[in-house]
Amino acid sequence: MLLDWSNIDTVLLDMDGTLLDLHFDNYFWLTHLPTRYAEHFNLDPAVVTPQIHDRLIARRGTLKWYSTDFWSSEFGLDIIALKGEIKHLINERPQALELLRTLAARGKKLLLVTNADRKSIQLKFSQTALAEHFDHVVSSQDYGYAKEQPEFWHALKSHIDFNPTKALFIDDSEAVLNSAHRYGIAYLRSIAQPDSQQRSSQNSQFGTIESFQDLFSPERGV
Ligand SMILES: [Mg+2]
Repeated sequence: MLLDWSNIDTVLLDMDGTLLDLHFDNYFWLTHLPTRYAEHFNLDPAVVTPQIHDRLIARRGTLKWYSTDFWSSEFGLDIIALKGEIKHLINERPQALELLRTLAARGKKLLLVTNADRKSIQLKFSQTALAEHFDHVVSSQDYGYAKEQPEFWHALKSHIDFNPTKALFIDDSEAVLNSAHRYGIAYLRSIAQPDSQQRSSQNSQFGTIESFQDLFSPERGV
């Protein structure tokens, strides 16, 4: 659906891969964690790395996949402490802060809506200037359902007063966007390049943003 800003009063924004560069998360799970795990347990990184990848993939899209406490007990390592070792890689995506300032100046209600748990949010907020911009910071871990699940959206609506037919939701996950679409969020957009170190290649049935400025350029047809 074409964006009709006169009809949009609430903007829901994902965190990792949308406002923040997914490079941090990809590097952490695919490289840093396997490296530190192999060191800690004195194992061969070449053997351990694919095993860890398989264990991660098996939980993808579930609430546990996004829980640092779950992975800390799964791997016997303090995941948040390990993330802190590479926190310098946590960065906003281009124009993320400008987007938040623009939306606030236009009087839109701003919700951060993430599957990340509170410890991860705290770490990301400590390294960025996101925190001050939101009316609400929502972690799906608080509701017990991931954004991929329909129950999440009902829980969100019961906690926060917003009108889905007047809401725009931006997320880099097609599964999450589909879930929001089924619930009835009217305006949906995906992110072309969630990870700055990977090619810009994502497609979405809901429309993909190359730059946040596209949101305010009707001629771009987003
Ligand atoms: Mg994301």
